Amino acid sequence: MTDKFDKLFDFNNTYENLPPEFYRKVELEPVKGPKLLYLNKDLSEQMGISYDDLKEYGLSIFSGKEFPKGASSIAQAYMGHQFGHQTMLGDGRAVLVGEIIDKNGNRIDIQLKGSGRTPYSRGGDGKANLGPMLKEYLFSEGMNALGIDSSRSLAITLTGEKIFRNGFFDGAILTRVMNSHLRIGTFEFAFYDKNPESLKILADYAIDRHYPYIKDVDDKTSVYFRFFKEVSIRQIKAVAKWMKYGFVHGVMNTDNTSISGETFDYGPCAFIDEYNPDSVYSSIDSFGRYSYLNQPKIIFWNLGVFAKAILPLVEDEDKEAVSSINNFLQSLTIFYKEEYYKEMAKKIGFDFSNETIIELIDNLLKIMYNHRFDYTNTFYNLTYGNLDSFEMKEKEMTQWRNTWEKVLEEYDIDKNKAIDLMKSNNPVIIPRNYWVDQSIKLAEMGDFDIFERFLKELKNPFEDNEEKTLFKEFPDDFEYITYCGT
Ligand code: AMP
Ligand code: MG
Repeated sequence: MTDKFDKLFDFNNTYENLPPEFYRKVELEPVKGPKLLYLNKDLSEQMGISYDDLKEYGLSIFSGKEFPKGASSIAQAYMGHQFGHQTMLGDGRAVLVGEIIDKNGNRIDIQLKGSGRTPYSRGGDGKANLGPMLKEYLFSEGMNALGIDSSRSLAITLTGEKIFRNGFFDGAILTRVMNSHLRIGTFEFAFYDKNPESLKILADYAIDRHYPYIKDVDDKTSVYFRFFKEVSIRQIKAVAKWMKYGFVHGVMNTDNTSISGETFDYGPCAFIDEYNPDSVYSSIDSFGRYSYLNQPKIIFWNLGVFAKAILPLVEDEDKEAVSSINNFLQSLTIFYKEEYYKEMAKKIGFDFSNETIIELIDNLLKIMYNHRFDYTNTFYNLTYGNLDSFEMKEKEMTQWRNTWEKVLEEYDIDKNKAIDLMKSNNPVIIPRNYWVDQSIKLAEMGDFDIFERFLKELKNPFEDNEEKTLFKEFPDDFEYITYCGT
């Protein structure tokens, strides 16, 4: 291979310095007919890697055929509570190729998803089909554009193979980029492995990688307790933003809850259409454990699992560890509420929240629920003053708007300023179920036009333009059911 190939990524892998139980080396089998389908130009630039070079020399890496010097090929070990039940998992259809330092000096993981079997694959084939990888690309880029910390998608490679799911589909590999793939489940694994030294090494590693600043503060509490707090805060903030935009992750297992606070693993996820807090889209979520409304409760639950896993480390330094952690966990409900209403307030033009504004928000949601209004479109029509819209013409809504305008006046907020704030907090379009479904179905049949146009618009969701007209409309009787895509 050429020098250019070797220099594409300057891999430098720290994960392999962890004790050996945390990962397994993987020998990937070469795929039949690799072909680069998508390469994310914006992301490659942010990573400080030449798009042209990647396009020319990247395929071997993205298809798992050959890796440059310094790269590795490992599957990470982890456990996880899936739908409340703990299981040993590990990367069954992903390999970590390595870490690089991006343009901003951040260490990031480069992972292949769908590249074949690993020691953790169990009965699975370790592969992925095109549809779910397109979905992950669309959602991760869309979430990032909404300002939610998310894994990113650098490339999609077709493998030239047919994958059997409920029929034959084109095989594909996603190149996923993330600040790290450490998860709550990685800590569960370390805890149950019963080697206190390994747990400490893992925690120190995660702190150095994501929260180095907590070591330097003048604080007498255990550094592991501070670590726990930081992860909790980032996760709570992320979920508040999910709720703000109507996102349903669908599979909030502890192995899918990151330590970095990034949202990832876009499987059976969806954005709500009409405002119904009980919305569930996943075909396997029979009891609605991961419904839209349950997400804050589930993140508290997941953080409880995390707390249990790192408790031995906190206890070493703090005799009151259990009560310190419990008290903090209790306080998270209030913190979540503050975050949620702070985010929601922006959607109606307030850069702060208080009892009056909370009441306004709750009343608006009640009207939306009673009239089965579309969540995204109600905020959009309110923002853009579309008084002829179905939602704005509703009597209760007119009354609500009068009250809203009075409150704006009461707080001496200029309406134009409020609307500017609303424009940057109410997207014109979202990864709308109908269009996600349509664009991926067409792409699976070889027509990528709608998918590409949709993706392009999702990258600037707050800008209203002609091209978005198509994606604003959708049949209101469309029923979306999602699958894990494995
Ligand atoms: P997920 O629901 O995507 O978070 O995956 C849960 C677990 O199942 C993880 O350990 C995955 O690596 C594993 N898994 C998912 N799909 C496959 C597959 N096709 N082959 C083997 N393992 C898989
Ligand atoms: Mg997962």
